[in-house]
Amino acid sequence: TDFKTLGLAETVLRAVTSEGYDTPTPIQAKAIPLVLEGRDVVGIAQTGTGKTAAFVLPLLSRLAELGGTAKPKGTRVLVLSPTRELAAQIHDAVRAYGKNVRPRSTVVVGGAKPGPQIRACAQGLDFLVATPGRLLDHIGTGAIKLTDTAVVVLDEADQMLDLGFMPAVRRILAMTPKTRQTVLFSATMPNQIRALADDFLTDPVEIAV
Ligand code: AMP
Repeated sequence: TDFKTLGLAETVLRAVTSEGYDTPTPIQAKAIPLVLEGRDVVGIAQTGTGKTAAFVLPLLSRLAELGGTAKPKGTRVLVLSPTRELAAQIHDAVRAYGKNVRPRSTVVVGGAKPGPQIRACAQGLDFLVATPGRLLDHIGTGAIKLTDTAVVVLDEADQMLDLGFMPAVRRILAMTPKTRQTVLFSATMPNQIRALADDFLTDPVEIAV
């Protein structure tokens, strides 16, 4: 497979080329067309398989097609990460792959001052990458609203389970519109992650690498 056959926007393809990627990884080849179509996806993949680009590239592409000038009201795409480190990596990927799309994006994680996070969210965001606990704090104060969130990505869902975030993840998902697209990545599929997918994903396509 070639990146050009996957249906990505030209602006996103150019960023992929400048990253030096020739060929999509297997998870990218499978996930990108599905995410572009708006399908819910369960991706069973470890880190190192290229799973970040598997969701970031098609979501940037759809954003590019909305037109770069349309200003988001709330938070368009929410990515939940189990750790600050992974959140920072995902955000770096959004910026690198999105250098021609220029999405409004920010990171909201524990251990950092809330003030700048609140200011960054006040304008409306295309991408918000967050850990569940700090996100709930900001939702509680009204600094972040998820009432018009169109896409939620749960990255490393099994790690979120292991860290005790399942109640928070479920509360967050319940605050987003039922019509959202939901993409779940996990290295393993324990029963609680199966149950999460059953409760919050609509007719998901399951892919594994
Ligand atoms: P991830 O599994 O998302 O953590 O990605 C692992 C690494 O693979 C990252 O350093 C990416 O920059 C790199 N990568 C992702 N997709 C590709 C690709 N199609 N070709 C080459 N490298 C890639």
